[in-house]
This record gives sequence, structure tokens and C-alpha cells, in this order.
Amino acid sequence: ETRLYLVPTPIGNLEDITLRAIRVLKEVDTVLAEDTRTSGKLLQHLGIDKRMHSHHLHNEHKAVAHLIERLGKGEKMALVSDAGTPGISDPGFLLVRECLRHNIKFECLPGPTAFVPALLKSGFSAERFTFEGFLPQKKGRQTRLQQLATEERTMIFYESPHRLLKTLTQFSEYLGPERQVSVSRELTKFFEETITGTLTEVLAAFEQKAIKGEFVIVVEGTDK
Ligand code: SAM
Repeated sequence: ETRLYLVPTPIGNLEDITLRAIRVLKEVDTVLAEDTRTSGKLLQHLGIDKRMHSHHLHNEHKAVAHLIERLGKGEKMALVSDAGTPGISDPGFLLVRECLRHNIKFECLPGPTAFVPALLKSGFSAERFTFEGFLPQKKGRQTRLQQLATEERTMIFYESPHRLLKTLTQFSEYLGPERQVSVSRELTKFFEETITGTLTEVLAAFEQKAIKGEFVIVVEGTDK
């Protein structure tokens, strides 16, 4: 019998939640949330009143053993993150690994995640792509950028607003200013916008405006 469900939640537009996700959130005993306030609002919006526990990257290691014990005793839980799919640049991986190790049945519901619409909106090849998530901030960053310079597949990155320009500038340095890039911001939200062009063009576009919101960067692979 399934004990744990990984449940994707909207990345902006509250309509982006599946019927199955709503049913599962209603049926479980406990909702494990990255931020109980953020997810509490979503549950309230859905008319669901449920016991919540916080489960974030900082306590994931410590918390997992305790959660496995409770799941083992029969408690049913849903893991949600602040937005999108748990386990994608969000907590979830450790819990899944321990469920596998302890033979605890879990299911992963398909649903919203930011990188898929960003990839498709770029118009770059979606036949083969690599999800890179957040670049390392310090250690390993240069090495990663050097490796990616010769990557032939489309590359997808998550980035925070205050590092967007730095990252685009480094892409220009390491991959060349002529490389095609597509930046999507505020996907599914009111100010959704996608800017696509060479790194030089896209950098110029962003240097002219206030950089606000959430961003996905998609870079075309090299053709050499
Ligand atoms: N679990 C999420 C998913 O499935 O996409 C990702 C969580 S990660 C901590 C947050 C990052 O996802 C943001 O910094 C941004 O790069 C990206 N992101 C999330 N929602 C977004 C949106 N509505 N528009 C653009 N990017 C978004």
C-alpha cells in the first residue's frame, strides 16, 4: 500500500494542479511541506484542512529517519515543495532513496515544473537536453562552465534574479557571445515573458530593465 506521494504544485497559476494531486492531498494523513506557510495557503485555496510538517533542505538529512519510521507504521504522507515538482532542485531525493531502501511504497505524481515550458518556449531542440539546475555558486563553477562549453545538447538552468546577469555574462565568456539563449521569467504568471536571442542581445535586453521574478535560462548546445 502506498505510503508516500510526491505531489507537484503550481509554479504560479493556481489552476495548474491535477485532479489526482487534489485528491491525494485530501486523502493523506500529513502534508510534508518545504514551507508550511506557502503550502498552507495552497491547501486553504483548495479547501483542504490538513496536518502539516515542515521538511526542507536544511533538515532533510535529520528528518528522514523519523519520517521513515512513521511511514513504516502506516502513516500516509504527501510531500510538496514551495512550487513545482518535489525533488527537482527541491527536497525529496533523500526521502525517495530511503523509501526504496526500506521497501516503503511511494508514488510520484506528474505535474507542473518550470523547466518544461521554458525548454519548449525556447524553440531549441527538445530532443536531447540536459537539466543543470542551479550552477555551483563558487567551488566548481568555472569547471562546470568549461565543461558546458562543449555540450551539444540543449542546457537548462535555474537562476535567482540577483545572479541572472552574472550568469549570462559568464555564459557569454565561456560559450561565446553568439550562442543562442532563451530566458523565461514568471512562467504561468501575469508577467510571464520569454526573451530569446544571442547572449549579447539577451544581456543587452536585461541590462535595460529591473530584474525581478523567477528565471529559467535555456542555452542552445554547440554545433561544433
Ligand atoms: N521544484 C521546482 C520545479 O519543479 O521547477 C523548482 C524549485 S527551485 C528551488 C526554484 C527555481 O525554479 C527558481 O529559482 C526558478 O529558476 C525556477 N522557477 C520556479 N517557478 C518559476 C516560474 N514560475 N517561472 C520561472 N522560473 C521558475
